[in-house]
Amino acid sequence: MSLSDMTHNYGANTLYDAVFGVHSKSNKTFLYTEQGEVSYAAFTGMTNKLAHALSHAGLQAGERVAVQAKKSVMQLALYAATIKAGGVYLPLNTSYTAHELDYFISNAKASIVIVDDAAKDAVTPIADAAGATLLTLNADETGSLVSAADGQSDQFEAVPRGPEDLGAILYTSGTTGRSKGAMLCHRNLLSNTQVLEQTWQFTSDDTLLHMLPIYHTHGLFVACNLLAMVGGSMIFLTHFDAERALHWMPKATSMMGVPTFYTRLLAETMFTSDISRHMRLFISGSAPLLAATHIEFEDRTGHRILERYGMTETNMSTSNPYQNERRAGTVGMPLPGVTVRLADDAGKVVSKGEIGIIELCGDNVFTGYWEMPEKTAESFRDDGFFITGDMAREDEDGYITIVGRDKDLIISGGLNIYPKEIEGLIDAHDGVTESAVIGVPHPDFGEGVVAILVADDSVTAEAVMAGIADKLAKFKQPKRILFVDALPRNTMGKVQKAVMRTEHEEMFS
Ligand code: AMP
Repeated sequence: MSLSDMTHNYGANTLYDAVFGVHSKSNKTFLYTEQGEVSYAAFTGMTNKLAHALSHAGLQAGERVAVQAKKSVMQLALYAATIKAGGVYLPLNTSYTAHELDYFISNAKASIVIVDDAAKDAVTPIADAAGATLLTLNADETGSLVSAADGQSDQFEAVPRGPEDLGAILYTSGTTGRSKGAMLCHRNLLSNTQVLEQTWQFTSDDTLLHMLPIYHTHGLFVACNLLAMVGGSMIFLTHFDAERALHWMPKATSMMGVPTFYTRLLAETMFTSDISRHMRLFISGSAPLLAATHIEFEDRTGHRILERYGMTETNMSTSNPYQNERRAGTVGMPLPGVTVRLADDAGKVVSKGEIGIIELCGDNVFTGYWEMPEKTAESFRDDGFFITGDMAREDEDGYITIVGRDKDLIISGGLNIYPKEIEGLIDAHDGVTESAVIGVPHPDFGEGVVAILVADDSVTAEAVMAGIADKLAKFKQPKRILFVDALPRNTMGKVQKAVMRTEHEEMFS
């Protein structure tokens, strides 16, 4: 279903009016925090004051507002304010250094930059060089932006922005080369929110346990746009903490998390069916959820986690069904309005059951990479399908299973090896917590397979090899098995295979 089928009349400001505008005057609680509650009306007042502050700082429609700040209600209102004032929101991971910020601020030609006071000295020359106005916003909701907003009116007329106008630029985490700015227009963001409302059946009765960062698609658009649009509430916590999750869970109806949230919850004996009995829905995404976690979760709580798949460039693209079977290890089927096909490198569609790269199109798909026309052209087929780079297989019932990124594909002796197949077998071995299989340069084979394991002391490399010997062709079997305390992950819980490949690149030389 496309946006035009669902919404015939856009408000003057497409995204703001449809998402934050609907319940803006309500006295219902929008956000519960550890400090207190914020109603929709109070949130709107905050948004309007911030929108005035941005306009006074010179923001013009279409200009970028780059924000690196610790998660707070004020930061969420800043997102809404940027959209309402006609700007393009550019959230930045809180772990980026000033050196990294330099690239984003200058590449995006931000006109306003907002950072924590602690980063002000380091970022001032960067903002000056870019000709941007620098303001500050701290975790405790103080800073020069807040002072600038303080005396402003709590009424603000939204700046008109149409469905094709940009609402946000999110830089990809880019493991190779420079990170690219994915341009998301109002239509991309709004259509996905509407599709998710329908698919996951969110209503104003929902209270979402929100412990994700809000500089990423998952925590910002998927969670916040959706709950604001339906008029629900969020328990808005600064970060994930299993003990705080259990404290708040009885008040929640739903949760969105990365797989690590769920494995950490399962590590708590207090996490039971009783504590989760008011929950309607647990959603997982941003990284693969192990089938074993899915099963253990159901055994413990009676809930089947709903796994979905998306990326910065595409918002959400596939989801397990809400009503029908949620199949462990799969990311479900295309969402309404999203067309998915699996193709080879040349773009030729593969037969059902075979592995191919996910290509997709729909209102959810971004409009291109900011000022990178060649990268944009390379990423799209002539018929408009976006090449995601994720490799997957579709079963007879239409469920899609992701087997890895195309750049994680190992080619050894000219043969393709999909890490996920080997990881699945290793993970099934008693005492193994998780594994990552990578390819590193090998003088004979081009690449040699290496398995990196997190396991308890009882596990030996010989036992793991013996366990997979009769299940895997010889060329797929790891040439080396290494043990580590933890796999390197980024803040969204994604295993950083590129980091491991670099670390071990000389192993066979
Ligand atoms: P990002 O742009 O940071 O959201 O990362 C998007 C990437 O995360 C996708 O291209 C996938 O490789 C991965 N990803 C997202 N959701 C899932 C999932 N449910 N299972 C496996 N990988 C996922």
